[in-house]
Amino acid sequence: MLKAEVSRRKAIVGASAAAVAAFIPNIFSSAAAWGARPDGKVIEPGRVIAFLRRGNIRWAKGKPIRWSYAPKGAKAIDGQWPIAAVLGCADSRVQPDELFDLTPANLFVVRNAGNVVDDDVLGSLEYAVEHLGVQVIVVLGHSLCGAVKASEATLASGVMPGGHVTGLVERILPALKGLPAGHTLAEAVSANSVQSSIQLLDQSDILKEAFDKGELIITHGVYDLATKKVSLS
Ligand SMILES: [Zn+2]
Repeated sequence: MLKAEVSRRKAIVGASAAAVAAFIPNIFSSAAAWGARPDGKVIEPGRVIAFLRRGNIRWAKGKPIRWSYAPKGAKAIDGQWPIAAVLGCADSRVQPDELFDLTPANLFVVRNAGNVVDDDVLGSLEYAVEHLGVQVIVVLGHSLCGAVKASEATLASGVMPGGHVTGLVERILPALKGLPAGHTLAEAVSANSVQSSIQLLDQSDILKEAFDKGELIITHGVYDLATKKVSLS
């Protein structure tokens, strides 16, 4: 990994880590740090991350409660006020709403094979930040990711897959090329998530500006299919 990437990664991790211990049962506060919801309540970004962690713990233990922070009743159709955005893989075994134990309308989810960054992803996440008040973006890789596996195969053989899958692989490959020889698939998945986190800031002036102003936290993690646990950085 390049030096600049390492230092950027530290910045991202540092920003998100500060929030983790902030969990209290009621995450709503009166502080004006959040986009105006119809019920007038706001949620601080640090607490959002803490609640995602706790939701995943419930899910991993097999004790989900299907929590919701979204407005209820008639207010629910007035608009959407998701508490976070997720850039995740399209893999059918990975359902962000469920694995964070949330009901619909709580997460703004953007997915593609390999959770790669492209123009449509950037546009979607910029919309979430600018127009929906999202202040937390989670880049979520997962164990045994087929897109990363395919990229590993290309790295080893030099043979690109056919069709538009080539485009996905081309976006993942730079993350793998920075890893030492003999690295594991798990390390490749993690590196790919880190790369996407960095690219969100490098390729979007809107996300970068929000990040620099302290109005956006970008964190990354990996969902383990076997344990159902998310390891957020
Ligand atoms: Zn995948």
